[in-house]
Amino acid sequence: MSLSKKIVFTLLPLLMAMIAISIYGQWKYIYPTFQKLEQKDAITNFERVAASLNSDIKRLDLLNKDWGAWDETYSFIQGENPTYIASNLGVESFRNGKFDFLFFFDESHYLVWHGIYDRNSDSFVRNTQFTQSVIDKLQLKFANLASGTIYPETHYMGLVLLHHRPVAYSIRPILTSNESGPSKGFIVRGRYVDTEVVTNIIEQTRVRFQIIPVQNKSIAVDDQYSIRKLNNGTLEVSRYLFNDGSPIMQVKSYFQRDISQQGKVAIQSAIMTNISLGILLLVAVWFILKKIVIIPITQLTDNATSITYTQNYQQRTQVNSKDEIGELSQQLNEMLHVIENRELELEDVLNKVTQLSMTDSLTHIANRLKFDSVSDIEWRRMKREQKPMSIIMCDVDFFKQYNDHYGHIKGDECLVSVAQALNETLARPADLVARFGGEEFVLLLPNTDLEGAKHIAQTALNKIVSLKIEHPDNVASPYLTASFGIASIIPTNEKSILQLIGDADKALYQAKQKGRNTVQALENTPEESTNSIG
Ligand code: GH3
Ligand code: MG
Ligand code: MG
Repeated sequence: MSLSKKIVFTLLPLLMAMIAISIYGQWKYIYPTFQKLEQKDAITNFERVAASLNSDIKRLDLLNKDWGAWDETYSFIQGENPTYIASNLGVESFRNGKFDFLFFFDESHYLVWHGIYDRNSDSFVRNTQFTQSVIDKLQLKFANLASGTIYPETHYMGLVLLHHRPVAYSIRPILTSNESGPSKGFIVRGRYVDTEVVTNIIEQTRVRFQIIPVQNKSIAVDDQYSIRKLNNGTLEVSRYLFNDGSPIMQVKSYFQRDISQQGKVAIQSAIMTNISLGILLLVAVWFILKKIVIIPITQLTDNATSITYTQNYQQRTQVNSKDEIGELSQQLNEMLHVIENRELELEDVLNKVTQLSMTDSLTHIANRLKFDSVSDIEWRRMKREQKPMSIIMCDVDFFKQYNDHYGHIKGDECLVSVAQALNETLARPADLVARFGGEEFVLLLPNTDLEGAKHIAQTALNKIVSLKIEHPDNVASPYLTASFGIASIIPTNEKSILQLIGDADKALYQAKQKGRNTVQALENTPEESTNSIG
């Protein structure tokens, strides 16, 4: 797998995991905090409703206190104020004071006067059942107090269900205007907690709520908040209100779930931001890796591949970054430098070895191997160019005797001198003199006809003779001499270089036959079919 793919296959799951963790974290931990905040806010607002309801009750109680601690009421309850009813207990007092019923009990808890106001008809109504429930429920609050022991500060207020209607009430002792006793009875004042109250509180608090009177008091409920999410995006907070341990009514308030909605939007944008950042990061990491790792490594690989393929160790890698890859590139170049030097050394050694393998160790002229190789090449060249090619075979005369006379060391020196003389005879770069074996030499003369070859052979013989190497056992001369056999031909497909060499050898044989120290071109005999000329 390529480096790029590996990086992608590593980074992609990483990004996905990051996104998944972000989504999970946001919904699992952040969203609930919005929900809690929303619920807390709803409860706070609910409490504002309750507080408003309470302050309504307090207002009622304050009014009741004013009436209760008043000399007029004080004398009325004792039957000493006949105008009290006419002046204070008319419907306008109920209307203006915003209360719905008023009960006066004397110190024996006997109901002296009561009025039940009907707002719709703006008049008093008779409602015996309601009256009875006031006596049953509210008189109970003070009924256990023995007469004469009512303390000025004794008072009750709160909510109560009277004849299935939730009612705010206040009970105050009847005192003198300076709030001193002894108390002569109680004033019980009440107000229905009805739509008007609810509407007022909604206006004040801006909290939507409703009141549901409890019909069945035996239901098992507690005074804890109950929070419900309604389908229409509303949060319902409800709570039961109690009186003397029994539930009276349930207050249900409704709140738009704005906070959790905003939370959702915030979380969604946070997730989108995270995803965008993640993608951005991934792309950035990808580009950075590509720039600083993948591109240099690819270039390095291309360079190395090219060097391996071409085996040109003079090439160098082209990565010059100042990091580990740059260091690797530099090290590769160092290695290439070493390989290049080794190559050069090896080539040098090979050249030397080749040179040595092609050179005769004694005479330092070309050896038989070299001759075979060059003669083959030149034969084909002359065949292509249709030019004559000549071979001269040279053999030192009576050399065995020379050795026998002077010894092998002297014989060797003699061979070196002959080789040198032969070499000096040749002028053209394509000409070659080689030691053919023992005291025999061969001269390869491309692009040279028989006449030219004869001339060269004669020159070579003269040169050898002119060395004046004494050779007492040479029958032909007092000095060292040699015999030369020459053959020449324009190469054809029918003939081979070996045949040409054979012809020259035959000519050499003839030279030996003729008494040595001579140059002999091959003479045609009847049985021989050769192009060589005698
Ligand atoms: P001919 O005139 O018929 O050529 O007589 P020859 O004695 O030269 O020929 P022969 O083939 O009988 O002897 C060749 C001699 O050359 C034998 C050997 O002692 C001598 N010889 C061959 N190679 C070397 C060499 O490398 N060094 C020395 N010193 N002598 C060599
Ligand atoms: Mg010989
Ligand atoms: Mg010889």
